[in-house]
Amino acid sequence: MRYIIVTGGVLSGLGKGVTTASIAKILQSMGYKVTVIKIDPYLNVDAGTMSPFEHGEVFVLDDGGEVDLDLGNYERFLNVDLTRDHNITTGKIYKKVIEKERRGDYLGKTVQPIPHLTDEIKSEIRKVAEKYDFTVIEIGGTVGDIESMPFLEACRQLSWEEDVVFIHVTLVPSLDVVGEQKTKPTQHSVKKLMETGISPHIIVCRSKKELLEKTKRKIAQFCNVSEDHVISNHDVDDIYKVPLLLNEQRIGEKIIDKFGLRRKPNLEKWRSIISRKCDKDVTLALVGKYIDLHDSYISIREALMHCSYYTGVNVKIRWLESERMKKEDLEGVDGILVPGGFGIRGTEEKISAINYAREKKIPFLGICLGFQLATIEYARSIGLKNANSTEFVDTDEPVIDLLPEQKKIKNMGGTMRLGAYKIILDNQSTVYNLYGSKEIYERHRHRYEVNPQYIDILTRDGLKFTGRSEDGRMEVLELEDHPFFLGTQYHPEFTSRVERPSPVFMGLVKAMARYSNP
Ligand code: GLN
Repeated sequence: MRYIIVTGGVLSGLGKGVTTASIAKILQSMGYKVTVIKIDPYLNVDAGTMSPFEHGEVFVLDDGGEVDLDLGNYERFLNVDLTRDHNITTGKIYKKVIEKERRGDYLGKTVQPIPHLTDEIKSEIRKVAEKYDFTVIEIGGTVGDIESMPFLEACRQLSWEEDVVFIHVTLVPSLDVVGEQKTKPTQHSVKKLMETGISPHIIVCRSKKELLEKTKRKIAQFCNVSEDHVISNHDVDDIYKVPLLLNEQRIGEKIIDKFGLRRKPNLEKWRSIISRKCDKDVTLALVGKYIDLHDSYISIREALMHCSYYTGVNVKIRWLESERMKKEDLEGVDGILVPGGFGIRGTEEKISAINYAREKKIPFLGICLGFQLATIEYARSIGLKNANSTEFVDTDEPVIDLLPEQKKIKNMGGTMRLGAYKIILDNQSTVYNLYGSKEIYERHRHRYEVNPQYIDILTRDGLKFTGRSEDGRMEVLELEDHPFFLGTQYHPEFTSRVERPSPVFMGLVKAMARYSNP
């Protein structure tokens, strides 16, 4: 088994996830079977209980795993479906070790970080890696953090047992005063990494401008790598260009050379998709609660980007925090999107945005909570004045109510209706035309649903539920007599890829283009 282990230095938020995904993409383009694992050194068992305000979006996989948003990047770059095993956290490892200890599996031994934690980490990694030619492992956090120590130690051990290449991603800042690229932070972070017994084979430097030859020379000298193993990963205007940028510096060939292999990458298809120039701008209002951190909606932003590559329509997002939103903020937009969310805060403002989209016939997409709020808005418009969700208030018109199986659940972690479920679409519907298929699989993350008792009243005039789960739950809503009004109980953004854009988002973007230029 072959491993590429990516560590990060200096500070977090460097774009290590995109770098990791790009390296994996290059290897995949050589014809290898490649996968990615993300290690998150926090104590949460998974990302499901974490606030989007702190960590950005919680990404959901087919198998219902609630994982770090970097797994979204890996899926979007590689066009593969990952599983929950591809996200390892400290919490997950400790939980396993403690369960084993309680069962008596350690036969009286003292249970210790080394070897018991490190063995468990290696075994989780191997479980995934055995099916692939290459496994790229991204270690979250920054070298030097106490919490990542057991993982670095496990990876150091792994390098004695398997074929491993270490890549360290660092920051090379330039000081405005002198305009010089400074290498000291990189030197320090490589030293910190070396204290753990790991020497990087390749150093990838994040910088504003392309790394100068003299900067590379200095880093090579101080950090014990050859000059051509210092790679410039300077800012580009589109993250999907990063594989091309790294490939120009032959990073893929340099990596496989360490394993004694020779092959050429081929990113031509990728290049041709992402080079499409846009010839039209549209504006989409995104009305959400977690707007202050744009990463909370990263999959939506990326799904829109994927559609731009196929339509030539550039979608400018108008980020609107629901509670602070004013009516006039919606003026002049070509579309309105209400994304997923939890809790009552801002829901009335979102409902008024939906009302605006419905009455003014502006293209609209509601996702999960957005779908539920669109149902509530419609119910109120046909006279159910107290229509609401029991998630927010006690009401005598509970058009959105808890899923029956959720009623007995006490724990928060991993207990929603999660992951991919089959959805059956009506032949004569917008959504069917978008997918071109009667049966689809899409990912879910919710506890509430359209209350079956209200379906007859709601569908009497105009509102149509055009997609249902196998057990009869409402999954898609549409409006007749509107250019594009679609709600999905599922999250179409989680399955959108560069090489396979989401049909729902394609529908929205095309409708916005028609709306803005009829
Ligand atoms: N809060 C709603 C529910 O639990 C919607 C969830 C979501 O938007 N992901 O059903």
